[in-house]
Amino acid sequence: MASALRLLGVLLVCAGSPVPAQSAPQEALLRVAGQRIALGLDPRSGDLASLTVDGREMLAERSPWYRAQLTDPGSRASRWADAKSAESIRVEEVKGGARITYTDSANRLKVIVNLETAAGEIAARLTVRSPADRILEAVQFPVLRLKARPGSESESVRLFMPGGDGYVVTHGGLRGNTWNGRAYPGHASMQFMALYDARGGLSLQCRDARAEPKDLQSVYEADPDLLEMRLTHKRPFETGRGFESPAVALLPCGSHWTSAATDYKAWARKQWWARPKKGEARPPAWLDSHLVILHGSLRPLGNGKHPVPLDRWPEVIRSLKQATGAEGVILDVREWEHKGIYTSPYYFPLYPSPEAVRNWLSAAEAEGARAMAMVSGLQWMIERKEFRTPSYVVTAFDGKALFEAQGRQVCVVNRDGEVQVDAPYFNWDGSKAKICPATLFARLHFRDTAAKLAEAGFRIFEFDQMNGGDCPPCYSPSHGHPIGPGIWIREQIARRIAEAREEGRGRLPEFATSLEDPCEVYLPHLDTYVGRAAHTTEWPANGEGSEVVPAFSFVYGPLARPLALDVPLTVYPDPYQLVLTARAAMSGAVPCTSLGWYSILSKYGPNDLLPSPEKLDPAQRQLLANLMRARSGSLREYIAQGEMLAAPPVDLKPASIAFRRWERDRNVDRRITHPEVLANGWEKPGGERAYLFVNIASEPRAFRYPVVVRGGARLAVNGGTPRNVPPGEGVEVSMPALSAAVLLIPKP
Ligand SMILES: [Zn+2]
Repeated sequence: MASALRLLGVLLVCAGSPVPAQSAPQEALLRVAGQRIALGLDPRSGDLASLTVDGREMLAERSPWYRAQLTDPGSRASRWADAKSAESIRVEEVKGGARITYTDSANRLKVIVNLETAAGEIAARLTVRSPADRILEAVQFPVLRLKARPGSESESVRLFMPGGDGYVVTHGGLRGNTWNGRAYPGHASMQFMALYDARGGLSLQCRDARAEPKDLQSVYEADPDLLEMRLTHKRPFETGRGFESPAVALLPCGSHWTSAATDYKAWARKQWWARPKKGEARPPAWLDSHLVILHGSLRPLGNGKHPVPLDRWPEVIRSLKQATGAEGVILDVREWEHKGIYTSPYYFPLYPSPEAVRNWLSAAEAEGARAMAMVSGLQWMIERKEFRTPSYVVTAFDGKALFEAQGRQVCVVNRDGEVQVDAPYFNWDGSKAKICPATLFARLHFRDTAAKLAEAGFRIFEFDQMNGGDCPPCYSPSHGHPIGPGIWIREQIARRIAEAREEGRGRLPEFATSLEDPCEVYLPHLDTYVGRAAHTTEWPANGEGSEVVPAFSFVYGPLARPLALDVPLTVYPDPYQLVLTARAAMSGAVPCTSLGWYSILSKYGPNDLLPSPEKLDPAQRQLLANLMRARSGSLREYIAQGEMLAAPPVDLKPASIAFRRWERDRNVDRRITHPEVLANGWEKPGGERAYLFVNIASEPRAFRYPVVVRGGARLAVNGGTPRNVPPGEGVEVSMPALSAAVLLIPKP
């Protein structure tokens, strides 16, 4: 993932930064005004010279509307053209807005920008007529050179980016990591960004029902403290093809990401990918039962000892159910591949043997457990070196000959005409190529894998390591698809997911699909997705000064169910595990644990490795158990049927939490400022609401929660007997240490 982000950075260099040659005084600007948002156009250069929201200027400097990348199909050399090379620019007022026409004879370009005000927002559209002998490879539009601090203070500044679940970045985060960019569809799950502070701000939302490939980018420049927010539309690699952009809405937003997300949701939920799921399309009912996820592995630790021999899984499952009150367990047990974890694409026969796996899953099922298989998506592993510690082992893998014989011809070819081979991301990883999703190989591979997994008894097929359905554009002329970027990529991936689902369901009616990190366009075929809203600064966020937020579930819940995965829990005290557990719950995700799998060896020694709730750190065990008790009632129904509310935060001073975290290959001491009591809410179609509170402090906490309650509201702590809540403004909530509470409010 990190390497993909670095690649994106190259574009920055190509784009340069424009300096308008001529400019008009502020009073001479042509104004295009919506209710709260207004644009001022320079009548000579066409540049955007002013962008105000509620009268506040958002622009740091004049912004060019577009930059176009023109490529010679022979040499594949590119140059970028923008309005500076246009010899004629016409800016005119038209009914409901304005039009800017650029004639650029040197580059043989004709570009038209149309601006139209409608319903409180301004819609911008771009048309490019390009030369018949050039490839219009990419178009940046719109380009907004915004003040990185819309007001005088920086404390409340946030950038929202739609990476995975979604994340926000502080002003300090922008300065620390200047590049925020995500490719859609894929690492960007949705098509909107926002920049705001305590007074609100601006949201840029692409209304692209065709979901064409584009990068959503916000790039910080320290001098003069500027954020360039832009879309880079990635065009098919076809000579002479012009471009008509989808509408891009510029609109005001409030002082929280949920404000921009609410406006996006109003559009997004009407699109083809967000249709309500009926009949066969519905996620299987068992996903809404009272579940907890258990991580583990089928292979032994690096010391050769196995924490859970195959025949002992039933007792581990029973102990977890007993400690949490769960009805069922989702087993995320890795290393089922014949040659070791992630050794794609030849996974079979299953490890340790097909018969052993069938028996293991059938015994697990008798205890109410269903297994998920993490399938390495489009990866084709070529080679991997062994990596071994006493508690961890990654098997060596040599697939070079097989790759040359079968892989090379079906894998993604990059723009230079080479099969793209990526270096190992980290020690569990190997060198690998990506299977082109349009090939016959891909079609047979996913069907076959789904069939074999379902026959063995796996219930969830998770498309892993293709986050949000990410796949680089393939330039192969022999795979039978268009060359380069295009909607063909997402269409092919969607078919592969749909086929895997169909194949699995033909054998097991409860079979379900999942994807590592969500993306809106795959919703019709996904029953679940791996959500990472538990994370703070980790992926899909952008490091220090950024934080994941559950924006995808806010916009799209309950169309697919988020599964939490990266909250292992340990046998040692670790306040960050409490943070992660509470945050995952706030996104509505199914809770998870590894019962301390990788930390047991160092505390309990090689002869007492069986993971159990008793071995977990007591605080982590208590929080998980109380959270599960809170979810045991009707809360799950609200999450499964309802939509997430923009719930107010709990008004308590955040805590400074010190913790030690494993990052790549070492423990790092970290400190975060984080609320101790988290809150979120869901509303069912009838208007009934449920709020979930989680207290991660080791002390009781009491607060007044600012919601209006009429008669009949009830509050239950840790799944206990509910108490009636008196009507009025605000609810008094008292929570014991490490507890979870649910407030149910009947419909108004
Ligand atoms: Zn291809």
